[in-house]
Amino acid sequence: MLKKWGVIVIDIQGDFTKWKQGSLAVPGSDENYVKSVEVATRQFKELGVPILGTQDWHSPDHISFATSHPGKRPFETIIIDGGTQALWPPHCIQGTENARVLIDNNLFLAIVKNAQDPDFENYSFFQYGKGTKTEMDTILRINGIEKVILYGIATEYCVRATSLDLLAAGYKTTVIEGLCRGVSTDAAATALDEMRCKGVRVITTPEEMIKEILQEIFDK
Ligand SMILES: [Zn+2]
Repeated sequence: MLKKWGVIVIDIQGDFTKWKQGSLAVPGSDENYVKSVEVATRQFKELGVPILGTQDWHSPDHISFATSHPGKRPFETIIIDGGTQALWPPHCIQGTENARVLIDNNLFLAIVKNAQDPDFENYSFFQYGKGTKTEMDTILRINGIEKVILYGIATEYCVRATSLDLLAAGYKTTVIEGLCRGVSTDAAATALDEMRCKGVRVITTPEEMIKEILQEIFDK
């Protein structure tokens, strides 16, 4: 068992995919994309790497929904408590079909949820509110994970925020770009640059990562 690596699969949920005609479907999120995420995740699991999933999990009246702000439209930005808040179409509402994680749930050791506070939006699955940790850090620690591999949806929101928080908490963090999808291609590219600058390793394909882990196994 390789204890030091861990994988975090971010928000592979119906509402973010074209495949399931999601309300916030991101470009390039067809069935083939979801299947490629599942195949890679299964390969990591077969190498003995523990897998965590994440799940965006909103109350129906969540503050980030345009419908919670009369007169506002999705993708507008408003100011709340001095900070900017992007407004989204309602998505990933707790208990709905399109909030389900689309890849085989048996792959996951655990699924970490966010957005549970109706009055606060957080894109990170590492912490929420004003810096309260989710269970992610504890789960990583009790499994001896020090190096984290991330991918999923959306690059410039939950993948970015979670990977930067992991990095700040001392985890070696690798993002697999080819398994990520962004809301906006330009913003996703900018976010990947920012992540690189701050010290996140960005690689292109899961094959590179699998090769590296296999090499470690052979070297032992
Ligand atoms: Zn959300």
